[in-house]
Amino acid sequence: MPTKLSAVNHDRRIFKSKYIYPVVSRRADGLSIGVNLNTNNACNWQCIYCEVPNLKRGKPEPIDLTLLKEELIYWLNQVINKDFLDKHTEPGTLLRDIAFSGNGEPTAAKEFGAAVKIVMEQIHSFQLESKVTIRLITNGSYLDHSSTQKAWGQLENLNREIWFKIDAIDSIESKRINQINISKKSVLSNLKSSIKISPTIIQTCVLKINNELPSMQAINHYIEFLKPFENSLKAIHLYSLARPTEQQTSNFIERLSYDELQSVAENIKQLNIPVLSFI
Ligand code: SF4
Repeated sequence: MPTKLSAVNHDRRIFKSKYIYPVVSRRADGLSIGVNLNTNNACNWQCIYCEVPNLKRGKPEPIDLTLLKEELIYWLNQVINKDFLDKHTEPGTLLRDIAFSGNGEPTAAKEFGAAVKIVMEQIHSFQLESKVTIRLITNGSYLDHSSTQKAWGQLENLNREIWFKIDAIDSIESKRINQINISKKSVLSNLKSSIKISPTIIQTCVLKINNELPSMQAINHYIEFLKPFENSLKAIHLYSLARPTEQQTSNFIERLSYDELQSVAENIKQLNIPVLSFI
């Protein structure tokens, strides 16, 4: 019996490719072909809810671009020309995106621009221009670098989105949740850079930490921070823990209930930006 993919089965090792993996994604609303540039499980952040096993701090190892291209062509062929969708997904599932979404921060890879170019070429080769979106799932920390701007800028004529992680605005909270020291000024600069090169959607993981929901003060700071971007952001995605964290943390973290997440969403909806919650 072939393995069925679902939004709860996100094991990237099922199909044994190194860089490319198919996954059914709730937020993408269908099949996503993932591009993992962080095969050594290294990230510059260490979010307490991160699902990457054996995550370590650092940068990606060198990428074999020839293999990455071969794997991408193989998987596009399986999905577009063969019966992969019928065999491995629920009826009606469609290919929605090719997403840079690895076991770490994709834009930290030296080969990020070259990998984006390979994806762009295959979108044209498989004639997917009007069918598929190219997504970058990022913590945003390299977006104001000129190399990242140039890399993503190659896609200016294609459907593209940047999914930009902002879990907390206050530095004490981002230290606790993302385990990084980042100033509000840096997040602002990275967010402006993202909006300059791409439609941008904010991704926010909302957690209950040590039995406490996010404070009203934290929610208000989040709203104030995003207010100037009401006309330039495409949406906000709110979600909570979908699967158990793979990180060791001294904090006790829990998934919000549907009602709890809805109540956070109701507050954020005072912004004139579409807010979608996923539970
Ligand atoms: S930024 Fe993403 S990959 Fe990096 S630690 Fe956070 S959740 Fe994990």
